[in-house]
Order: sequence, then C-alpha cells, then structure tokens
Amino acid sequence: MTTAYIGIGANLGDARANVLDAIERLRRAPGCTLEAASSLYHTAPIDSSGGDYINAVARIGTALDAQSLLEALQAIEQAHGRERPYRNAPRTLDLDVLLYGEEQIATATLTVPHPRMTERAFVLAPLLEIAPGVHVPGHGPAAAFLPLVQDQPIAKLDT
Ligand code: ATP
Ligand code: CA
Ligand code: CA
Repeated sequence: MTTAYIGIGANLGDARANVLDAIERLRRAPGCTLEAASSLYHTAPIDSSGGDYINAVARIGTALDAQSLLEALQAIEQAHGRERPYRNAPRTLDLDVLLYGEEQIATATLTVPHPRMTERAFVLAPLLEIAPGVHVPGHGPAAAFLPLVQDQPIAKLDT
C-alpha cells in the first residue's frame, strides 16, 4: 500500500455536496482505503473563473499504481459530469494526485508531486490539517510554503 494525498475541488453545482460525495467515493474505491479527510475550505477562484470553490484534501492508502489511481480519480470526476471546455474552467469536481508516497513522477499524463501544490493555499491548508509534518519530495516540508500563500483568502467551513 502506498499513502497518497488527493486534492479535491469544486465550484459548479452544489460544490459542497460534490466534494463530500467525492470523499465517500474515495472511501469505496477499489484498491483504496480512506485514511483521513480534511475539513472543507471555502476559497475565491485564483487561476480560475466562475464561483467560489470548496476544497478539501484526503489521505488514502492505495494498492493502485499512480497512473491507475489517476484514472480512478478521473472516473469519479466523470461521475460528476466533469467537462473541460477550457483551461481552469469552472468544474463540478476536480481530483488531483498531490503526493504519491515519496515518488517523483513525470509522465505525459501525470506529474507528482502536483507541480502547483506548494503555491496554493487551498491545497496547503487542508493538507497540513491532516498531515502537519508532510514532506513534498523535491521541495521539503509542506509547512514551509504556507507563509508564502498568506495573501490567498481561505476559510475553513463549520462542520
Ligand atoms: P491544475 O493541474 O493546475 O490543478 P486542473 O486540475 O484544472 O489544473 P485538469 O484539466 O483537471 O487540470 O487536468 C489536466 C491534466 O493534468 C489531466 O488530464 C492529467 O493527465 C494531468 N495531470 C498531470 N499531473 C496530474 C496530477 N498530479 N493529478 C491530476 N492530474 C494530473
Ligand atoms: Ca486541480
Ligand atoms: Ca485536475
């Protein structure tokens, strides 16, 4: 089993419900065990257009290789009718592989660690909630990047 961290985001439809459903689907996904899920966070769009985002991060244990995990995540996105009309378009559901064990992966379809994760408060805040000491291979402790994104407003939602 490999420990992987999944970034979850939505800003179309009932974004909160979509994120919660994604966490439940990760719990039930073949070859995956849900180990932890962060609180939900509310953020304004940064690189993206459309409404505000709901974001979260989940930690799973998985028997899937990284590419198979990506494909499993894409199947969950498709179950929510994810469309990609243009880059950074509003989305019903977005699932990114943030970290896959200690691996550094660069293929045509998959870059891990996720190349923009250390620049995004909506990734770092939920990630550090469930994994305060986590390291980003090639970058160092995730916590070191949080001060650099303090200008990105983010609010933890009440549960
Ligand atoms: P960003 O990657 O900046 O968060 P995005 O999530 O909106 O943007 P998508 O349209 O969802 O981008 O994904 C585009 C492609 O990124 C996917 O088809 C996938 O092959 C590729 N990709 C590369 N690395 C990853 C990763 N770590 N997790 C998810 N997808 C990835
Ligand atoms: Ca993304
Ligand atoms: Ca994505």
